[in-house]
Amino acid sequence: MLTLSKLIDEDKCYETIRTMRWPDGVCCTDCGAKNITKRGKHATYSARQRYICGECGRHFDDLTDTIFAGRHQPLKTWIACLYLMGLNVSNQQIADELSLHKDDVHQMTSELRQAVADKRPEVQLSGTVEFDEVYVTAGHKGQPEQVKKKGARDADVNSKGFGGAVRSKRKNRRSSG
Ligand SMILES: [Zn+2]
Repeated sequence: MLTLSKLIDEDKCYETIRTMRWPDGVCCTDCGAKNITKRGKHATYSARQRYICGECGRHFDDLTDTIFAGRHQPLKTWIACLYLMGLNVSNQQIADELSLHKDDVHQMTSELRQAVADKRPEVQLSGTVEFDEVYVTAGHKGQPEQVKKKGARDADVNSKGFGGAVRSKRKNRRSSG
């Protein structure tokens, strides 16, 4: 059966990783030095280049310190999985396309999502941040009848919950002063 992974070139995947990782040439994953010597290819994955750092002596390869390091599946399977995730394809469909078990795909997609989430920088507000007109009814938790007695403006909070109130009434202003 023809599957997507049969159409994808493993060497091209490594090339892509190298270009994305080191757009200005390979540098040490430890000390960042550019004085790098190639040390042949990986014993199992022939497209994976190995290196040694001329400064600190670290041995590393194309995937060292990436989410793809130490994986059983070839790199092209991971890349294809990422690609299909980007198209909003279900785990079952990914499993079919890549001839994998659905449980394995579930594991892979979870780890990839987590890795992306970990990389995402935290949103940091700076300067003066105003948070206008957020109504929080304290002391009525678990007493819906009490809450219902409140006025119209609080009804908004009741119907949409705290998050709804924040979304509908938030004015988030920044000032440099
Ligand atoms: Zn180094």
